[in-house]
Amino acid sequence: MVISMMMSNNNQMETRKKIRKRPRKKFRQPIILLALVLSSVALIMSAIVGISQINFKSVKTNSASVVIPKLAGGNEKAQLPDQIPTEAEPDSESTQPSKNNHEPQNSKDSPAGTNEPSNAPKAAQPKVAYLTFDDGPSKYTDDIVAILNEHGIHATFFVIGNQIKGYEGSIKAASEQGNYIGLHSMTHNKKILYNSGSSANFLKEFKKVQGMVEDITGTAPWLIRAPYGSKPQIGKEFRNDIVKAGFKMWDWTIDSKDWKYTGKPDKIMQEVKRQVHRDVEVILMHEKEQTVETLPQIIQYLTDKGYAFAVYKPEQHFSVNFAGDSRL
Ligand SMILES: [Zn+2]
Repeated sequence: MVISMMMSNNNQMETRKKIRKRPRKKFRQPIILLALVLSSVALIMSAIVGISQINFKSVKTNSASVVIPKLAGGNEKAQLPDQIPTEAEPDSESTQPSKNNHEPQNSKDSPAGTNEPSNAPKAAQPKVAYLTFDDGPSKYTDDIVAILNEHGIHATFFVIGNQIKGYEGSIKAASEQGNYIGLHSMTHNKKILYNSGSSANFLKEFKKVQGMVEDITGTAPWLIRAPYGSKPQIGKEFRNDIVKAGFKMWDWTIDSKDWKYTGKPDKIMQEVKRQVHRDVEVILMHEKEQTVETLPQIIQYLTDKGYAFAVYKPEQHFSVNFAGDSRL
């Protein structure tokens, strides 16, 4: 080993000597190439280290399980949540997700490899909060986007198809300003979406709203949020159908319960403070007046707690669903 290293060192020295002997003009290009190669290697290495830290751990929870198979660098690099959300009420008019889900959540379902080194200091990873707003578009969409812009951050919106008419401009603006427009069905009607037990109506609605958003933004979104959350109304077969249709589905790790605290921004703040503790948080909010009121405070609080804000990016997708289904 040592010998081979020495040999390789010798070889390198020889190579360097050879390089030095070359006339200056010829020698510049290889140096630039070498620098490019080295910086690429450094980038790849740092990506590997980042990924290996967060790869394939999953957190089984009584609400959302967050699986982060791969997150790219920069501000949106993130670690796995370390604990479970103790409660999460799905959406407005919602039902509580059932207590525990024992479906296996294994790394084998994750797309990337698992055999990378994992020795980077964890402290270097920033905490990341994904703000998500359901049940729009609405008369509050522009206000929410304006607040996000003031803070130089972006968020993820899950829109209802039947509400889009008249708000096409708001959706387009939100999208153009760097926010992600996700899907939240056409009707938000529990009976239509779930009562049959079949995924047919659900998928039909999501395909329709997907087309509507694509017409407005030019991009078809594939991230959906199930009205009332995925649990308990969406079982395994149902999820299989969602996977087959090509959608990804996010629940959340924090329910701000903003939908029920009309006129009570303090209560919303309390909810958020009580539930924030993971390295990656996906925060459920709605397009409501009290949410607009509380939003600057929420952003400030999370910033003070060391969170960076991220918007959903398909190429950096990770799973956040109550079933712990890493396919979604
Ligand atoms: Zn909703």
